[in-house]
Amino acid sequence: MENQTRSEVVMKFKSMFEQERKNLLYSNRYVNEDFHFQTEDLADEADITATEMETEMRMRLRNRETLYLKKIDEALKRISDGTFGSCEVCDEDIEMKRLEVRPTTTMCVGCKEESERRESLHIDGHRSKSLGKRLRLA
Ligand SMILES: [Zn+2]
Repeated sequence: MENQTRSEVVMKFKSMFEQERKNLLYSNRYVNEDFHFQTEDLADEADITATEMETEMRMRLRNRETLYLKKIDEALKRISDGTFGSCEVCDEDIEMKRLEVRPTTTMCVGCKEESERRESLHIDGHRSKSLGKRLRLA
């Protein structure tokens, strides 16, 4: 019974991912077309600077979308090979509530917290401000 419910939920995620994927592909195409139009149309220098800023913003947005699209593709792949919903670190089932909030997640709460803890330690070690703070505390 529990398994059946879970596979039903997986199917729900599958169609959600497929829909999301379509939306992203559509919006990527839209961004490209719009951007092309803008560069050709604008001539004066102030506008070019504005365009450059806008281009950068769009690029950032596109990178984020591309990353998200990659995550969706990976999630769809996990659904097709039956590993969706299992933690890639400890192989336990990822909590349903967690999947509802972050469907593309590949880690259970415990493993994610552990990895975030390590990540933040890593970042702090490279941030001079935090490093100075830590030295004063020591
Ligand atoms: Zn885990």
